[in-house]
Amino acid sequence: MSTSNALKRNAGSLRAAITGDVWVRGDDGYDEARRAWNLTTDQRPDAVVFAESAADVVRAVRFARSQEMRIAPQGTGHGSEPLESLQGTILLRTSRMRGVEIDHASLTARVQAGAQWQDVTVLAGDYGLAALAGTSPDVGVTGYILGGGLGWMARRYGLAANSVTAAQVVTPDGRLVRADAGHEPDVFWAVRGGGGSVGVVTALDMVLYPVSELYAGALFFPIDRSSEVLHAWREWTDTVPDEVTSVGRLLRLPSFPEIPAELRGRAFVLVEAAYLGDAYTGAKLLQPLRQLGPEIDTFATIPASALRQLHMDPDQPVPNQGDGAFLADAPAAAIDAVVAMAGPGTDTPLVSVEIRHLGGALARPAPGGGAQPKIDAKYLIFGGGLTPTLELAGAVRAQARALKDAVSVWHASYDYYNFMETPGSADAVLPRASYRRLQSIKATYDPDQVIVSAHPVWPSRRPMREVA
Ligand SMILES: Cc1cc2nc3c(=O)[nH]c(=O)nc-3n(C[C@H](O)[C@H](O)[C@H](O)COP(=O)(O)OP(=O)(O)OC[C@H]3O[C@@H](n4cnc5c(N)ncnc54)[C@H](O)[C@@H]3O)c2cc1C
Repeated sequence: MSTSNALKRNAGSLRAAITGDVWVRGDDGYDEARRAWNLTTDQRPDAVVFAESAADVVRAVRFARSQEMRIAPQGTGHGSEPLESLQGTILLRTSRMRGVEIDHASLTARVQAGAQWQDVTVLAGDYGLAALAGTSPDVGVTGYILGGGLGWMARRYGLAANSVTAAQVVTPDGRLVRADAGHEPDVFWAVRGGGGSVGVVTALDMVLYPVSELYAGALFFPIDRSSEVLHAWREWTDTVPDEVTSVGRLLRLPSFPEIPAELRGRAFVLVEAAYLGDAYTGAKLLQPLRQLGPEIDTFATIPASALRQLHMDPDQPVPNQGDGAFLADAPAAAIDAVVAMAGPGTDTPLVSVEIRHLGGALARPAPGGGAQPKIDAKYLIFGGGLTPTLELAGAVRAQARALKDAVSVWHASYDYYNFMETPGSADAVLPRASYRRLQSIKATYDPDQVIVSAHPVWPSRRPMREVA
């Protein structure tokens, strides 16, 4: 009997065990339940479980084991493209587990696995605190942290993963454990930047920072000025303190009605930045770029929680594709290569091509850090576009790949976990030593490959389990 038929026979016991909801392939509602935030992904698990609690997660994992099935945890589905096949798999959605508790006294937050960043940043902001969120409001906290987590305060406070102090995890054998420096230290290490291959996270504890406001915004220039502005930005990044995290970007905005009229359908080169400090000092730091005469200048003192709008990421599910790479450095020739690929006069389907400035705290080993203790790359590049049709999906994929190839001589030794949106093993997105340690942890905790994750890890001592 195929896994699917066995599952259909036993679905009643799964439904009875789970407080949340269960859909088996063929059920009404299955297509809605399996849909990822990235609408390009056509994921087809045998069943979808929407967990309401850690207890539901335990029951789903135990059920999967009992049926010799695999289990794929997923929050929003922003990172759905690199997932392995979901054949013989239960997709375990945590999107109903969005609770957030702030402990003002200890400057920490406890965040349930399905929370989105906006759930944390808005609440933390009420206490004058900030979390190390990424650019998008509705990216899941858990997936982002499992892959490292690079946000607007990264050069000052490092990767978000290294601000995690504890994780609640359901291990592949169905035990709910606390992982921290003193308990399950290998799991604790792995979930901080090593991906989600060693268990299902049900909650994370993390440090918050006393940042209520900061000076942040964007300078927009017509795309014709790409070369001049990106070179100036690149040189400026050599001069700024760790309190400044910035992005040099080429942006072609679609003609969507929800986009402000002055931006709609236009192409820009822009510099986006956040400075952890006052407006007077921030304006002085920004002066070399401001004196280039931007068409639009949005820099102002803003609440930390308003950073979620700075990058203008879509806050609704969209079909999209993209790819990125860590760059050991980005000399002038690398900027020229990016402008040649996506600057003025090029016919590119890439909506956004961005170069993020790294360094600062990211370059220093985080004390007691996890699987990405530091980043040996000075910049990060990413190109992506909208893919409403198969044809466009192919074109965007090819261009994102070509962009990556165009700067290949400056690539670091591995790519950024969260920005590699093509399927591939975790050894392409982690330092070599981290991948080796992860393989041995996987061999201990999940030798049978029960957990399906983005960027899989093959256990070091056992062959990969054959999936029916
Ligand atoms: C618009 C946009 C903006 C982005 N901005 C940034 C950014 O600024 N900085 C940055 O670092 N990244 C950024 N990313 C990348 C993003 O961090 C990754 O795509 C991340 O995987 C998304 O996490 P998620 O939980 O939302 O996605 P999901 O697709 O739900 O999860 C991704 C993977 O994480 C693992 N996972 C999720 N939940 C669990 C769990 N409970 N237990 C175990 N494993 C789990 C699984 O392997 C899953 O396949 C962005 C992505 C998009 C689409």
